[in-house]
Amino acid sequence: MRPVIFRLTGVIALMLAASGVVAWLFGALPAALVACAVALGVIGADTAAQLRLLAWLKSPEGSRIPPARGVWAEVFYRAARQLRLWESRVQREQDKLKRFIEALQASPNGLILMDGADQIDWCNDTAAAHFGLDARRDLRQHAVHLIRNPEFFAYMAAKRFDTPLLMRRTTNHGSLLLSVQVIPYGDGQKLMLSRDVTQVERTEAMRRDFVANVSHEIKTPLTVIAGFIESLRGLDFSAEERDRILALMQEQSDRMRHLVEDLLTLAHLEGDPHQPAEEVLDMRQMVDRLGADARALSGGRHVIELSADVGDVRGARTELTSAFTNLVSNAVRYTPQGGTVRIAWRVRQIDGGGPVAEFSVSDSGIGIAQEHIPRLTERFYRVDRGRSRESGGTGLGLAIVKHVLLRHQAELRISSQPGQGSVFTVRFPAQRLVLPAEPDAAEANAVDRESISA
Ligand code: ADP
Repeated sequence: MRPVIFRLTGVIALMLAASGVVAWLFGALPAALVACAVALGVIGADTAAQLRLLAWLKSPEGSRIPPARGVWAEVFYRAARQLRLWESRVQREQDKLKRFIEALQASPNGLILMDGADQIDWCNDTAAAHFGLDARRDLRQHAVHLIRNPEFFAYMAAKRFDTPLLMRRTTNHGSLLLSVQVIPYGDGQKLMLSRDVTQVERTEAMRRDFVANVSHEIKTPLTVIAGFIESLRGLDFSAEERDRILALMQEQSDRMRHLVEDLLTLAHLEGDPHQPAEEVLDMRQMVDRLGADARALSGGRHVIELSADVGDVRGARTELTSAFTNLVSNAVRYTPQGGTVRIAWRVRQIDGGGPVAEFSVSDSGIGIAQEHIPRLTERFYRVDRGRSRESGGTGLGLAIVKHVLLRHQAELRISSQPGQGSVFTVRFPAQRLVLPAEPDAAEANAVDRESISA
């Protein structure tokens, strides 16, 4: 305020002094003209300064403060300072908002903010993916117009938002099950959360199937055993019949024991967070041992062929033995009498790459139709339930194989032709292969070791 008063006093003093001198020298009229000229000069200078201020205020960003003198210099300086303060405050708020939006974007859940009329104000990328929205184009659109789903429409119309809605959506990448919950806030606005529960539902369905399967598998032998016990109690049997019944009971209890053993093995493999042991398995010995097991299981009904290259595997002995035994046992069980089962360990060098180490079990058995192959490693998945049970299968063998191989970063390949036979190949990563020190030993030993016709 003070500079304005000083300037006004100065102007008036100047005007009075100038017109006083002129009046004393030339009379009243020239003095009045001088006073007017001074006043006009001051008004002109002020107007020019105002125009410069206005022009500057229109786009002050980046431009320099216009030059000014006296009170206008003060006005310009203060306006510029206020502007800078305001700009830094806006910048701070913008940074805060940006961080807030980044946090909402980072959420694994979908988030949609809606106004009082259920129009979309903002949504994060997850929500856009869940509902097929375009986070920019679809703003200000009604949620129910964009999320075209009868259940969602009914949920929004009923306005009962205390429980979430489960809603299925088909996207380009498959079917999604979403859990959607609307949370009203503020003045009629809504926050909508969406969560992809497809995997949760799948796991839950698997758990239910698993419990049902285990119960079923145990119930059948239990029913048989209970029936025999009843018969043994109530009826008189000859010693021979008694022995036959006891043998059948034994068979059923063996079946349950195998099932429980396989279940425990699976539970152990699935629940073990530790890396498998790093033992070195002599694969030649392993193939010999598997060959002996195959012969025992076959009881002379099959031709068993063995071949093994030089080269060992680093891994957990019990786990790998269990996986290989399962493959061999399947080959014998699903190959009719007179068929051939071949157990092979091959180590070869591929062009331009490292060594490839493969354990394979081939058979000339019943084979598997193509559509079953992707599901064979699922727990309790069997192509022919009756045949599997008859041969003492639990339906868990290949699930065990899959888990063991996963833990060893190995891969299972299955190729098969119905009626012609199957090949189950386990390929180990190069880092699990242990080669002897002599570089050409592997080549020298790549010969079939044994061929036994039983
Ligand atoms: P199972 O105890 O029933 O043999 P697995 O998990 O070991 O259970 O195998 C799953 C299913 O895969 C078997 O029931 C069988 O239908 C099929 N299968 C596995 N190995 C062979 C094979 N070598 N030849 C034909 N079918 C096989």
